[in-house]
Amino acid sequence: MNMTRRDALRTMGLAAAAAPLGFGVGARADEVPEKKPPHQLPALSFAYDALEPHIDARTMEIHYTKHHAGYVRKLNAAIADDPELESFSAEELITGLNRLPESIRTSVRNNGGGHVNHTLFWDILTPGGAWPDEGPFSDAISASFGSMDPMLEQIKAAGLGVFGSGWVWLVRNRDGSLSIETTPNQDNPLMKGRHPVFGIDVWEHAYYLKYQNRRAEYLDNILKVVDWRSVDRRYAGS
Ligand code: MN
Repeated sequence: MNMTRRDALRTMGLAAAAAPLGFGVGARADEVPEKKPPHQLPALSFAYDALEPHIDARTMEIHYTKHHAGYVRKLNAAIADDPELESFSAEELITGLNRLPESIRTSVRNNGGGHVNHTLFWDILTPGGAWPDEGPFSDAISASFGSMDPMLEQIKAAGLGVFGSGWVWLVRNRDGSLSIETTPNQDNPLMKGRHPVFGIDVWEHAYYLKYQNRRAEYLDNILKVVDWRSVDRRYAGS
């Protein structure tokens, strides 16, 4: 006589027979898989030492596995009591702060912002750097700054001008032109309805191990490992 799976489980005396099936053959009844949190640390596309000597491997590892991972963990914790918030992306959460319960607003702002900012940051870095192809983004650089060099100088100056912790951004305006902006803490231009295409972290944790207080030197060096093709893609995106 054929036994159904439920009969088989009952025969084996597993109280889990009533639990949803499909956890995999051999799973123990007490090993209910934990639900995956809605926000996850994205994979890095390069090794920790890939940006050497400009960004050292130790800084890269701590920045990614401690700082960024911490923002993700705390963002998940902030929304853990509000299941209806699980379906929103981190971008949606940080652009809709006023619609969130006041008790979690600051945490979502800081940790959701931290997650969004660092996700962009890793994505626009690449070993050796990469220049943009000719096209609309390259044209916008020429129209807005004259050429790459003055743009980089202005990014550096703006980054140096951030008091305390924050970010320097390149933002695409509605008319396609580019502007340099800064934000404090983990704020993101998205929070003001702006469209960031590039951002550099100027928190001390981004450079202190190698550069100590020399933020200018850090900025000179990190600008050598920017993937301007990735920025170009963000410029072209919606
Ligand atoms: Mn950081």
